[in-house]
Amino acid sequence: MGKIPVLDIGCEVRELKPQMMDAIEKVLDSGAFIMGDNVKAFEREAAEYLGAAHAIALNSGTDALVIALLAAGIGEGDEVVTTPFTFFATAEAISRVGAVPVFVDVEPDTFNLDPGRLETVLTAKTKAVIPVHLFGHAVDMDPLLEMAARYDLKVIEDVAQGFGGEYKNRKLGTLGTAGCYSFFPSKNLGAYGDGGLLVTNDPDLAERAAMLRTHGSRKKYYNELIGFNSRLDEIQAAILRVKLPRIEEWNAGRRLAAERYRACLSGLEGVTLPEEKSYAKHVYHQYTLRIADGKRDELQAGLEAEGISSIVYYPLPVHRLPVYAPSLWDLPTAEALAGEVLSIPIWPQIEAETQLWISEKIKQSLR
Ligand SMILES: *Cc1c(COP(=O)(O)O)cnc(C)c1O
Repeated sequence: MGKIPVLDIGCEVRELKPQMMDAIEKVLDSGAFIMGDNVKAFEREAAEYLGAAHAIALNSGTDALVIALLAAGIGEGDEVVTTPFTFFATAEAISRVGAVPVFVDVEPDTFNLDPGRLETVLTAKTKAVIPVHLFGHAVDMDPLLEMAARYDLKVIEDVAQGFGGEYKNRKLGTLGTAGCYSFFPSKNLGAYGDGGLLVTNDPDLAERAAMLRTHGSRKKYYNELIGFNSRLDEIQAAILRVKLPRIEEWNAGRRLAAERYRACLSGLEGVTLPEEKSYAKHVYHQYTLRIADGKRDELQAGLEAEGISSIVYYPLPVHRLPVYAPSLWDLPTAEALAGEVLSIPIWPQIEAETQLWISEKIKQSLR
């Protein structure tokens, strides 16, 4: 077998190329490259698919978080609770709006922010919480939403890794105040460049977000707020419109691949497989193992030697990065996970044979 990547995006690109070339050509012929028909149609289609009242297409998932926070009135002096076990952008967005990220430890099985610990970090300054549906598995939202209602907190869902994932049969990103998605190419729904989306059921928040996207203006040259230039471009919107109708099928492909790994790898000593809680529909953005007894790095090197790629998401929890004053925090589960996790190859079209081979090599390497 040739070298196996963590994500083989080529499978999809090869299949979709004729449709994509056609979609891109239509944009070129239209001469409308910014805020044209494709962006508007994609917003409608994404809102309908997700079950949200409003969708605002943006130029990245990071901007979606920043704009959601600002549109929700979060800023200087506010505290925003989030998970330390996420991509840097989640905390960065909080800092970027002048607020302070407050980290709570995660659950060892879902890798997600533990709603049971939320109350321990709340202060009079806490204004919002950002749950991150990490690797495509839902955060346990009911207890989190209940706490948010009790303390009047905004809930900004980071769904960058969970497009199409569900919590109790509702799409992730539609449960809180706003949901933020990324269309970075490797995400479950990826553009062929940068992109992002904000969804909300709050019409006022939607209006503020739409203004912030375009220099704080409703009407051109009548700017009302200090905003951004954060538009999704027409070509990316056209590409996403080709891909959106396929997302259920692709997420089903990831779920099938996860079942196959479970069949191959369960019962292996020192290896904990990802699980799906009864409240969640996991969309396996990553298939992430926990490897006990300090054997993770050895396993990764062993797989690399066999031509099998794997990635550590994340080698440092966010609170361990120098910008967040590591000495302030005591977050033992996130730190333990950083030393144990290993994400192995998964994509919608991965073949059973490839997974069997990978599983065999994992077993051999741990023997
Ligand atoms: C990818 C990602 C982001 C940032 O999205 P971009 O589109 O790359 O800006 C934010 N949060 C999480 C959890 C992510 O995985």
